[in-house]
Amino acid sequence: MLKGKSAVVTGSTSGIGLGIATVLASKGANLVINGFGEAAAIEATRAELEAKHGVKVVYSGADISKPDEVKAMIDLCVSSFGSVDILVNNAGIQFTESVEDFPLERWNAIIAINLSGVFFGAQAALPHMKAKGFGRIINIGSVHGLIGSTHKVAYVAAKHGVVGMSKVIALETAGTGVTCNTICPGWVHTPLVQKQIEAIAAGEGISIEAASEKLLIEKQPSKQFATPEQMGELAAFLSSDAAAQITGVAIPVDGGWTAQ
Ligand code: NAD
Repeated sequence: MLKGKSAVVTGSTSGIGLGIATVLASKGANLVINGFGEAAAIEATRAELEAKHGVKVVYSGADISKPDEVKAMIDLCVSSFGSVDILVNNAGIQFTESVEDFPLERWNAIIAINLSGVFFGAQAALPHMKAKGFGRIINIGSVHGLIGSTHKVAYVAAKHGVVGMSKVIALETAGTGVTCNTICPGWVHTPLVQKQIEAIAAGEGISIEAASEKLLIEKQPSKQFATPEQMGELAAFLSSDAAAQITGVAIPVDGGWTAQ
């Protein structure tokens, strides 16, 4: 389905990004993977994706909060594969604290990575996509781009910003063959959420299993986690020709969280 296409997936050394990279590779896309981690583990992931799916995979260690590094990552995709057809802006971090006590350093980091990083990626990729007359920018937002929760002021602000930014990119690219959409996951069991589960378990003196159940019951009516693979399948669909007229939308994948 995506044979001959090339994709950059930010934050793909872990969690949702890795799930999306794996699905895009399984559909035939060549990849630039990105994110932090141990060099040996990243190289093992890169080599496994290539071997398992018969595609080419290169790694960029770009820090998404740095525009020059993001541009170099996009340029790496173009120099390796001749184009950047799909950009999945997925890298993101979380920090929870009340508004009054939220550390300025964490606010700045979340805005830089979760919001500005998406802008840097789109700005670097768009000229290549427009020149080719094809492009898919897929931003990984969150249910927190649509509604709020306590103790997530920077994250909710950044994710609402991503939903808004996607609409502007969609309008500026309408009719050019480029689309821009936001996927809005509810709870997905990844290291980012595991930290929140562990905090609930420690704070309330309950087991990890009980904390995990509590987290789901509080917000997600299905009481089931969504999976990185489900995000990958949706990203693959949005990358397909069938989705050529889907642009500027935010699609929740949240077990009913935002239906309430
Ligand atoms: P994760 O912690 O498993 O993965 C985050 C990835 O981003 C890692 O590869 C990490 O190395 C990378 N990263 C972090 N800072 C970076 C930087 N400055 N430059 C480059 N890479 C960086 O988290 P996840 O749960 O897979 O989250 C991925 C995305 O999905 C995030 O944008 C997150 O906000 C969003 N999301 C997650 C959930 C969930 O329930 N897990 C729900 C909604 C939205």
